[in-house]
Amino acid sequence: MSVSQRALLSRPRVRHCTITVDGVVQGIGFRPSVYRLAVSHGVVGSVRNSSAGVLIEAEGDDATLKAFLTALDADAPGEISVAWGKPECLTSFSIASSARDGVARFSPSPDRAMCDACVAELRDPTDRRYGYALQTCATCGPRFTIVRALPYDRERTTMADFALCDWCQAEYEDPRNRRFHTESIACPQCGPRVTLRRSDSASVCGADAITVAARQIRDGGIVAVKGVGGFHLACDATNSAAVAELRRRKGREAKPLAVMVANLDEAHLIAYVSPDEAALLTSSARPIVLLARCDGIKLADEVAPGCREVGVLLPYAALHHLLLGALGQPLVMTSANTSDEPIVHRDDDAQRRLGEIADHFLTHDREIVAPCDDSIVRVVAGTPQVIRRARGYVPLAVRLPMTTSRPILACGGELKSTFALVRGDEAFLSQQLGDLTSEAAFRAYVDTVGHFRRLFELDPEVVAHDLHPAYRSTVYARSMESVEHVPVQHHHAHIASCLADNGVDRKVIGVAWDGSGYGADARIWGGEFLVADLAGFERVGHFEYVPLPGGDAAVREPWRMAATFLRAAYGDSMSGLDLEFMRRLDRAAWRVLSQAADRGLNAPLTSSAGRLFDAVASLLGLRDHISFEGQAAMELEALSDREADLIYPTTVTEGDGSIVVHTTDVVRGVVEDLLRQAPASLIAARFHATLADVLARVCERVRARTGIDAVALSGGVFQNVWLLQAAKGRLEATGLRVYTHRQVPTNDGGLALGQAAIAARCH
Ligand SMILES: [Zn+2]
Ligand SMILES: [Zn+2]
Repeated sequence: MSVSQRALLSRPRVRHCTITVDGVVQGIGFRPSVYRLAVSHGVVGSVRNSSAGVLIEAEGDDATLKAFLTALDADAPGEISVAWGKPECLTSFSIASSARDGVARFSPSPDRAMCDACVAELRDPTDRRYGYALQTCATCGPRFTIVRALPYDRERTTMADFALCDWCQAEYEDPRNRRFHTESIACPQCGPRVTLRRSDSASVCGADAITVAARQIRDGGIVAVKGVGGFHLACDATNSAAVAELRRRKGREAKPLAVMVANLDEAHLIAYVSPDEAALLTSSARPIVLLARCDGIKLADEVAPGCREVGVLLPYAALHHLLLGALGQPLVMTSANTSDEPIVHRDDDAQRRLGEIADHFLTHDREIVAPCDDSIVRVVAGTPQVIRRARGYVPLAVRLPMTTSRPILACGGELKSTFALVRGDEAFLSQQLGDLTSEAAFRAYVDTVGHFRRLFELDPEVVAHDLHPAYRSTVYARSMESVEHVPVQHHHAHIASCLADNGVDRKVIGVAWDGSGYGADARIWGGEFLVADLAGFERVGHFEYVPLPGGDAAVREPWRMAATFLRAAYGDSMSGLDLEFMRRLDRAAWRVLSQAADRGLNAPLTSSAGRLFDAVASLLGLRDHISFEGQAAMELEALSDREADLIYPTTVTEGDGSIVVHTTDVVRGVVEDLLRQAPASLIAARFHATLADVLARVCERVRARTGIDAVALSGGVFQNVWLLQAAKGRLEATGLRVYTHRQVPTNDGGLALGQAAIAARCH
């Protein structure tokens, strides 16, 4: 060995490796943290976003690289792969610009609530971002709602219009600064600005805008506030007249309104908050959390009439913090839209669509690309359950229990519509887009599908959709050419959604209870027992069929179902029943409807569980007409505030291989109690207990026949916590494993995931 060779050996040999970190969510400060890690280990090279994930070029001696890789592995949010190559004699470490290569493997981060460090700056009079309503940092701020395309760099967000001032530029380039490589960096000098537009068309800018808006709200006014995913309509939550006026102008009769409070302490004053609920309230997703009310701060009765719960959320944008700080009162913060239309998110649109509702507009010039409502979550027995999945969660992937090689689009349902795109084992669910029978909601749906396809660079080859031929999502799916269509039965999709939500693909007894879904026999299903996995299903039981007099009108008018069930239970002698309901009943209208039903005119048969809830709610005098989906059932649950002492005897029969639950027996039990003048709250409790009992009995029978020892509960009816907990308790007591929803809604907002999982299973 020569001297020079020996010299070479004594110096540690420099090695080079290329590290790919897969599945990284972009926009959460991962590159800056890799930079700091590399510099602290003395590694040279670069880090950048690429189509394949985050790409790191690293050079150093063996020991250095080994230590770096170990530390990186502990930190990385995704899978790491390492390829060794030739050293390039690099001299420093840098964050390089993004590369476009290969198949896209990344996804943008959801929007993240303002972090504590940013809140502290907001309140520090010596900070240059003091009182600045649109500040963000590497770990907080809008992401999904402002990104036009990936990789996530400023030029592909709506912040591209704002050139950095020298100060921000210096922060952006300084590895020690917490805004190092923050793509959404901004300050009062160079960033977007807040403006208050008044109804007299005057406008006020900056901090004054917020002061004036707060004064307007304190005086009982209604202000449209542009936040992260769109506009809210805000008013003083303690002012009855203001809240009533907001309801009147918005045309929202009774649906509960969400309340934003300044902090956790204030949340404790309007509701009982468990540690799990507090964690959700303060999480970076910042959803609306449904909480049991208390009266430390007296909210206006009009906020959530007839509800024992109230939806509470904490501020998530700087603007919210400032507004609440200036006001000192809880705010009603409801999505700015009319009825089931999508949330208003553009300024020009806001003037046009909200001009009649809002007195003032508190807005800013940071554009929103992807409108997103607030998410809604509740905690049931210590487990968070998402009821509406939107801002803060979208577009995080739900992991499927299998991997597909073909890109899939699942088109979802009709109400609470969402869709899903599938890549490998990741299902990217859209935000909830509303009721597709609304023209504006359907347009938003089509636009959002386009946005997701561009964002994730996926061209679906397989398109899953509901069986219902008239759902607009079905019509849309079928209009797509050169793709393979996978029609999925509604309740099978519900059960599949619950399985995918729990990351399992196995055979279960699926209990799918909801308002309505198109059945394989072209009838309207909704009280279903299936034996199902992701590959297929068999309908093993259902509620007995009853007519739906007048079709969809019966959904809006629960009294029709009450009369239908009475007639099914008592025949013509129903007219002699000494019930308050019979005294209210418009007998002439009912005669026309029942005669039409007898002739089979506009009275499709349904096995819906939701309609049974409606019927009982109407019989108890709670509600004969509803103004939003599920209202009667919600009130029935709220009424049922005690333990049931007995259940109504309900026949379960078995004919031609299918189990039938005789729901008219349940109604008979309710009627007999009413005739005995039993309290309505007790009847409501007995009704819930009866359904939980029937559910468990049918599952027992199916287990005895099939040996399947697991049950999945899905469908909108299981938003009913009383029923969900009672059913779960009963099933688990008999040793059955019970799956319920967690990450996606149990209602139709979760259908797309089920369709996606079923399509992925066969591809
Ligand atoms: Zn921050
Ligand atoms: Zn600046």
